[in-house]
Amino acid sequence: MRVAADREVCIGSGNCVFTANDVFDQDDDEGLVVLLTAEVGPRDADAVRDAVAHCPSGALRIIED
Ligand code: SF4
Repeated sequence: MRVAADREVCIGSGNCVFTANDVFDQDDDEGLVVLLTAEVGPRDADAVRDAVAHCPSGALRIIED
């Protein structure tokens, strides 16, 4: 599966980084989400689904293969 992040929608809460820090980071300037990888392996899949479900702004989206 893949994940997409919309930086126009992100409010920089950091929840996703806390939940899946191998996949998400925040930039130093505005704290907006940065995808470390768009491809999500099995090891990170549950954490990424959790991050997507709990993103307060709805900036994250799963793209199933
Ligand atoms: S959880 Fe959502 S709003 Fe918060 S930093 Fe991640 S993408 Fe942005």
